[in-house]
Amino acid sequence: MRIGQGFDAHRLAPGRPLRIGGVEIPHSQGLEGHSDGDVLLHAIASALLGALADGDLGRHFPSSDPKLSGISSGVILADVAARVRAAGLRVANVDATVIAQQPRLAPHLDEMRASVATLLGVEATRVSVKVTSTDGLGAIGRGEGIAAQAVALLVSAGEVGAR
Ligand SMILES: [Zn+2]
Repeated sequence: MRIGQGFDAHRLAPGRPLRIGGVEIPHSQGLEGHSDGDVLLHAIASALLGALADGDLGRHFPSSDPKLSGISSGVILADVAARVRAAGLRVANVDATVIAQQPRLAPHLDEMRASVATLLGVEATRVSVKVTSTDGLGAIGRGEGIAAQAVALLVSAGEVGAR
């Protein structure tokens, strides 16, 4: 078994679509970033790379590479999931928390979960996506940005789990 954790945060800015977990969410602002700024997919991809002990997202997808400008984070996560399979491992489960004061994300959690599971190539029962606010505290509480953290457990691809 291999475990990994990931954290990410992006600034909110007007004039950008808000994409979290591969799901576009109606909002007046979106997340800034070299890619589409999908903070949830980045945290999960980082957790998977951590479990592989294979560096960080910046090493595999450097923001200095103009070819990666505006890249869909779904492409990034699918690429990392392929690295997991290439290592002879599979995702046992992922648990992630999005930390956002606004907009209200609870109505979108099921769709995010399904989206993440599809990108990882696993059943939705292996993916948990939760949301919390900071109760108004700090930069996130002031609505300046959104953060996410995730843990991922990888097991040998030969092992069969019930769920
Ligand atoms: Zn990011």
